[in-house]
Amino acid sequence: MPELPEVESLAAFLRAHASGHVIARAEAASFAVLKTFDPPLSALTGLTIGDVTRHGKFLDLSCGDLHLVMHLARAGWLRWRDDIPDKPVKPGKSPLAFRLVLDDGSGFDLTEAGTQKRLAVYLVRDPMLVPGVAPLGPEPLADDFTVESLAAILKERRMQIKGVLRDQHIIAGIGNAYSDEVLHAAKMSPFKLASSFTPEETAALHEAIVTTLRDAIERSAGLAAADLKGEKKTGLRVHAKAGQPCPVCGDTIREVSFADSSLQYCPTCQTGGKPLADRRMSRLLKLFIQNGPVPSIPALTWISGSAEARRERSAVRAAWGR
Ligand SMILES: [Zn+2]
Repeated sequence: MPELPEVESLAAFLRAHASGHVIARAEAASFAVLKTFDPPLSALTGLTIGDVTRHGKFLDLSCGDLHLVMHLARAGWLRWRDDIPDKPVKPGKSPLAFRLVLDDGSGFDLTEAGTQKRLAVYLVRDPMLVPGVAPLGPEPLADDFTVESLAAILKERRMQIKGVLRDQHIIAGIGNAYSDEVLHAAKMSPFKLASSFTPEETAALHEAIVTTLRDAIERSAGLAAADLKGEKKTGLRVHAKAGQPCPVCGDTIREVSFADSSLQYCPTCQTGGKPLADRRMSRLLKLFIQNGPVPSIPALTWISGSAEARRERSAVRAAWGR
C-alpha cells in the first residue's frame, strides 16, 4: 500500500506534470470507484489543475473550486502517461479504475490489482467532506508534530505502539510498512505499550518517525510515478523482509501476526534478542485446549482483533455459556 512517502512523492510528481494544465475529461471505470455523485465527474472538464497536496494517504488535486481526492487503498497505483489512448474506459476485468486526461493528451490512470476493489475517488467542494480525511490525526512531518505532541498522543493509550503508529485517526499517513521501519529505526518492540514510553523513548521514537519518513521521501524525489513502487521495496529494511538478515546487526528478521496482517522486526535490534510470541496462534491454541475444536470461522474472527471480531468473540462466549 502506498503510504505517506509514496503519496507525497506522487503529489510532487503531479505538481510538476499536471499543475497548470486544463482537464479534458475524467472517467471512472465503474460506479464503485467514484464515491460521490454531486458534482458529477463531467464538472472537471475545462477546469485548470492548481496545487496537488496530500492528507495522510489521500492525494488531493485542486481543480478550480473543486477537489479531486484519491485514495489508492492496498493495491492501487497511479500510472502517468504522456499519451493517453482515445478509447473510452470500460468496466470489466482490467485493473484500470479511473482516468484523467489533460489538454495536451497526457494524464494518468489509477489502477488496482487483485479482486478486492477498494480504490476510491471523491469529487468534492471541500476535502474535509471526504469521510476518511476529516478524522485524520496529525501529519507527522508538520512543524507542530513535536516530541511534546507525540508524548500527549502516547500518554493515555494502553495500546501496542505498532497499533498506534498505523492508526490513521491517531497519526496520519503511516501504515503497516513504515510503522515496521520506524520501530526498527527506534530499536523498539512493536508490542511495547504506548502509555509506558519515557520522555527519552518518546524523543527517540519522534526522531525515528521523522527521519524514516523524510529519508523515504528523499529517496523517491524526482523519480517517475512508475518507479516509486520499486523504490519503496528496495528502501525498506525490515518490512516484508522476514528470513533475510537485518541490515544493521545481521540477525534474521522475523515475522509475527498483528491485527489483520503481520509485522516484521529484528529480535536483536528491537526485542533484546527474544522472538515475540505469536499471540494470535497462542490464543487459538488455548481455545482448542480449553474447548476442543471450535467452528473455524468464529475462531478465526475471534483472534483477528477487530471491533467486529470482539463483538463476534462475545457472541461466541455467550453461545458457550461463559
Ligand atoms: Zn538488527
